[in-house]
Amino acid sequence: MSMAGTSSEPWYREGLRFACTRCGACCRGPGYVWTDPGEVEVLAARLSLEVDEFGRRYLRRVGRRLSLVDGPDGACVFWDNGCSVYPARPRQCRTFPFWAENLTGEAAWNETAKLSPGVNQGRLYELQEIEDLRGGSGSTSGVPAAGALSTGELPNRPAARDTRVLQPAPRGRDRKDSE
Ligand code: SF4
Repeated sequence: MSMAGTSSEPWYREGLRFACTRCGACCRGPGYVWTDPGEVEVLAARLSLEVDEFGRRYLRRVGRRLSLVDGPDGACVFWDNGCSVYPARPRQCRTFPFWAENLTGEAAWNETAKLSPGVNQGRLYELQEIEDLRGGSGSTSGVPAAGALSTGELPNRPAARDTRVLQPAPRGRDRKDSE
């Protein structure tokens, strides 16, 4: 597949392949998992918690936005050898690897492929589908302010980067399916 782009077309105009292997590459590194009020409601319901209680346990304020907290090992709090809330995971997780930072060029995409074994595998995502996913990455815009939720006092940390730093898939992992 030719990846050469023109000034008017993105380099991935012929589409990109991806199949989630649930390796956790996008879950185990440092960074943020942005959430919006609708996603928080879904997550809280998944865990049979009131939204306020969910916020106290699992959310942190980052500037005007909300992110899931990290677990003791620095991974997403819901990473437990697999995503423990997979059916209710936020849009940022659902749109991986089509995050803006991974689509800046072939070099960035290929770096992502080195860390996530599902990149360049599986079904072909068409250009428009990629654009739709990219627009919903939650990495830079469209994320409601933290004040939109009644979550009480939350830890406030500065945003060092958007989304999470990818981690290579562990070798010999014994992943737990969560669906
Ligand atoms: S919510 Fe689930 S899919 Fe999203 S980063 Fe956390 S463990 Fe990974």
